[in-house]
This record gives sequence, C-alpha cells and structure tokens, in this order.
Amino acid sequence: MLNRRQFLGFTAASSASLMLPACYKAPAKIIPAAQDAQGHYIWQNWSGSEHAYPSQRLAPNTLDELKTTLANATAPIRCVGAGHSFNGQCATNGTLLALDNFSGLVSHDEAKNTAVIKAGTRLQQLGQLLESIGQDMVNIPDVNKQTLAGAIATGTHGSGYTLPALHGRVQSFKLLTVQGQELNCSTSQNADIFHAALVGLGSFGVVTEYTLENWPLAYTERQVTMLPLENLLAEWSDLYQKNRNAEFFYIPFTGLAMKVLHNQTTKAVTPRGVDKDMDSLMDLKKLRDYVGWSPSLRKRIAQMVADNHGTEYAVDYAWKLLASERSVRFHEMEYHLPLDAQLPALKEVIAVIESQRHDVFFPIEARVIKGDENAWLSPFYQQDTGSIAVHAYYEDDYQFLYTLIEPILKRYGGRPHWGKLHSLSDKDFALLYPQWQQVKAIRQQLDPQGKLLNSYTQKIWGVA
Ligand SMILES: Cc1cc2nc3c(=O)[nH]c(=O)nc-3n(C[C@H](O)[C@H](O)[C@H](O)COP(=O)(O)OP(=O)(O)OC[C@H]3O[C@@H](n4cnc5c(N)ncnc54)[C@H](O)[C@@H]3O)c2cc1C
Repeated sequence: MLNRRQFLGFTAASSASLMLPACYKAPAKIIPAAQDAQGHYIWQNWSGSEHAYPSQRLAPNTLDELKTTLANATAPIRCVGAGHSFNGQCATNGTLLALDNFSGLVSHDEAKNTAVIKAGTRLQQLGQLLESIGQDMVNIPDVNKQTLAGAIATGTHGSGYTLPALHGRVQSFKLLTVQGQELNCSTSQNADIFHAALVGLGSFGVVTEYTLENWPLAYTERQVTMLPLENLLAEWSDLYQKNRNAEFFYIPFTGLAMKVLHNQTTKAVTPRGVDKDMDSLMDLKKLRDYVGWSPSLRKRIAQMVADNHGTEYAVDYAWKLLASERSVRFHEMEYHLPLDAQLPALKEVIAVIESQRHDVFFPIEARVIKGDENAWLSPFYQQDTGSIAVHAYYEDDYQFLYTLIEPILKRYGGRPHWGKLHSLSDKDFALLYPQWQQVKAIRQQLDPQGKLLNSYTQKIWGVA
C-alpha cells in the first residue's frame, strides 16, 4: 500500500524511467486585459470564465443610498455577491452593485428558531452568527463563501432527502425595486412576487434581508469513506433515506466513489482537521497528466492510493463540517433530475467521459434535494430531485460539458442549476417551469425598462 507521498514518487519515477513526458497539454488560454479602453478595471467570476469592465462599482451603506443607486446608476445594474456563479449573470459594463454593507443579524426569535439576516451576509459568517444565538442552517452547500442573497437567488442547495435547498426555509424577504418600491414579500404579503422573485437571478430588484427558519443548534457527525462505485450505487437509495445528508463523488477512471455522510449526534467534538482535498485533486491531475494514456494503469495506481485513504471522521457544528475549502478552481455544470433518473443518467455520464474524455480528472458529484413549493423557479419545484454535477479544471477545455454531458442531463428531464453552466434559454424554461410566463410578467412589471438585465439574463427571460 502506498501513501500519498510514495504515490507521487512512484508516478514521477515510473514516468522518468519510461522517459514519459506529460501526455496531457492544457489548451492555450486567452487572458483578458486588466483594463478596457476607457480605463475600467476587469471584474471576473470565481472560475475565471466570465469577465466584464464595470463603469461603476457601488456598495451602498444605507437603504437611502441603495434607492439613489437604483434610480440613477448606469444600466445594466447587476448585483454581485461573492461572484461564485459559473455563468454570466453578474457580468456588466454598467454598474456592479455589492451589498457587502448589508451584512449581519437583524433580529431573531428563540422560540420559533427564526432569524432575520441581511442579504449580503456570507454563509460562513451566517454559520457563526446563528451559532451565537443557538441556531444552525437547515442545509449548507459545498462551500460557504457565497452571500445569502446570491445563494438564494440561484437555488443553491446542499444534499438531503428530507432537506430543501436554502430558499426552501425562507419565510419572507424585503425587496427594493428599481422603481423605488420597498416590498415585504411572503406567502401572505405580495405572495406572487414572493414566489416569483425568491429564486430570481437578481432580476426583480435588490433583496436587502431574509427571514430564515433554522434548526436548534446541535452537533453533527461527518463520515467520509472511499469504496467501489458499484457498491455505493447498490446502497445509494438506502443511504440517502437513512442519513440526514448523503452525497457522493465518483472519481473518473478509478471505479471508486467517495461517500460523504452527515448526521446529528450527541457525541463529543472531534475537529475536522486539515482539508486535504486540494492535494488529492492535484494527485489526480498528475495521474491524468502522466498516465492518462493508459486507463488501466491510471485505475490501478488510483486504487492503490485509495486503499490507504481510510475513513475521515469528525464531530462539530454542521456549519463547520458541511462546507469545504475549494482552492483548486474549476468550471461546473449541474442539473437537477427526477430522483429515479439520477443513477441511469450518471452511468451514461461516466461512460461518455471514460470513453471520450481522458482529460477529465475532477470528481463527479451526486446529491439529493427535497422538493419545495415556495419558489416558482426552484429547480426542485414540486419534485424530489437527484443532482449530477460535472466539473472541469479551470485551465482545461470545458466545452464537452455542453456537447457531451448536457444532452444526457436534458434527455433525463433535468433542470439546470441557475448558478452554473448551461445553454438553455427562455423557450426551454417555458417547458421546464409551469409558472414561467407568470414569472416573466412579474419581472417585466417590476423592471419595465430592463435596467437590471444584462445580455445573459436577457437570453434567460427572452428579452430582445
Ligand atoms: C466553489 C463553488 C462551490 C459551489 N458549491 C455549491 C453547492 O454546493 N451547491 C449549490 O447549489 N451551488 C454551489 N455553488 C454555486 C453558488 O452557490 C451559486 O452560484 C451562488 O449564486 C453564488 O453566490 P454568490 O454570493 O457568489 O452570488 P453571485 O454569483 O455573485 O450572484 C448570483 C446571483 O444573485 C444575484 N444577487 C446577489 N445579491 C443579490 C441581492 N442582494 N438581491 C438580488 N439579487 C442578488 C446576482 O445578481 C446574481 O444573479 C458553488 C460555486 C462555487 C464557485
């Protein structure tokens, strides 16, 4: 059995002894200019796939300043949270509007486990804030750098058969429209706007705060285990029904999957320890770079390393365990499918990658999300869902996500994640969302001049 260092040594030594050059060459990259002709500095999203040169970057301090901004700023006015969306929804050469100064806890209700949170609060900070008042978020995504508003606006989710995405626990929110109206939105006040704008892609106005329904604070146990994919698939439906949060990552070209489980516990705290995901990813990249030409050798080496992986175990508050550091950048496409379609679609995705894309080394992620009723544009609207997320290293070609992966996920009836890569537009969404036309009419009514629209969201909403 090899440990990681021995594995790296082994890979390097085998390559050297066989006089192997790296068999993979990254495609040439065009690096955009730091400034445009007018001297405006570049803005880029987290993955680096999108960029723009905003003529104004504003971060208002008060509601009055925000109102003035919305009335006077150069269009397109696009709210930006942490810029973690993989697609072009935040890009603007007009006004980039950040709610960084609208951050923190407004109030809370101990008996009802609710809290009013400002929209620009980062999820990591939210975890800390809620801990200080004895509450915890009901579910947490894979990272916690996002703002609350950015996460909710795109239907951000974690994994859990009985747990909805983040927006599923929003009781109400405050919306400021470009026409200067301040609207309280809930199922009992401005209900249509609540349903339409909750997962709203920054297209209905600016959300300034949310009332969230949380859980009482309790410890969570984390268990991560590596196992053969076929074993995992055989127990998957049992796993997600019996564990609070179950998900897995399939590691392409290895036959192995990493099972990640989280459950409430009364056991003593065992801190999580150092996150080794970045090292593991770089090992997988090395394997791709040097032995990608031989799928069988690649698989054999990966399995030797994985044998030594062991089980990762920790006990702590959920907000400290469910999110990970993701310091290796990537591009991502994620679709949400009817639960029954998840495994058949996943098998096709794996087959196509392993037969046609030897350059792929990033794990493929599978999660489950409970259906909800709150948001008309929730990808989980009235449907329990199994998601599949396919990633590509940020320097690698990711067009295969559109040409090879997306057709499979569409064929199985998937709805794309609003914050990730997809090629769909208005006419596709009209078929996927029963209230699509009503949502469009509400957007048009709240922003008749389209001040909040950029070219990406124009395509989504079918605005010429
Ligand atoms: C490394 C990484 C890991 C991820 N993991 C997950 C995951 O586990 N699960 C998941 O579901 N997603 C995940 N995502 C996707 C991510 O959660 C979403 O793209 C989310 O929108 C990012 O939040 P943000 O604050 O960066 O928002 P941004 O990308 O900056 O903005 C997203 C949208 O929100 C709008 N918006 C922002 N603030 C406001 C406001 N105050 N009012 C109205 N609209 C507003 C913007 O205009 C835009 O349309 C991940 C992304 C990355 C890069």
